[in-house]
Amino acid sequence: MSKTLFEKICDREIPAEIVYEDELCVAFKDIHPQAPVHIQLVPRKAITMLSNAESSDQALLGHLLLTAPKIAAAQGYPDAFRLAINNGAAVGQSVFHLHVHILAGRPFKWPPG
Ligand code: AMP
Repeated sequence: MSKTLFEKICDREIPAEIVYEDELCVAFKDIHPQAPVHIQLVPRKAITMLSNAESSDQALLGHLLLTAPKIAAAQGYPDAFRLAINNGAAVGQSVFHLHVHILAGRPFKWPPG
């Protein structure tokens, strides 16, 4: 299996502005930011999309959700950020390696478009 784009970023084969990493995940600035803060938080494990995660990924998924607020806080937004996960091309997923969008720094509408 060839590596996903985000695996290549995790492995530093493709450049990105990495803002956080640990043994399970890597976070880097989005190349086309949709807000003053727009970061991709990705597991090192290449899960294609959330719906393909397995019960054995439970701790990893929890780790992502517990790590995202720390990254938002480090960017200056401890209590005002939005997380988004696109699951499937029909709702806008373009990179098929699970990733959590961390967005902050401007008002966000609800419901999202
Ligand atoms: P999604 O549409 O939910 O799959 O989100 C994919 C995100 O990855 C988009 O916000 C892209 O701007 C972002 N992206 C694509 N390529 C790169 C890259 N090389 N470095 C950083 N972000 C990227």
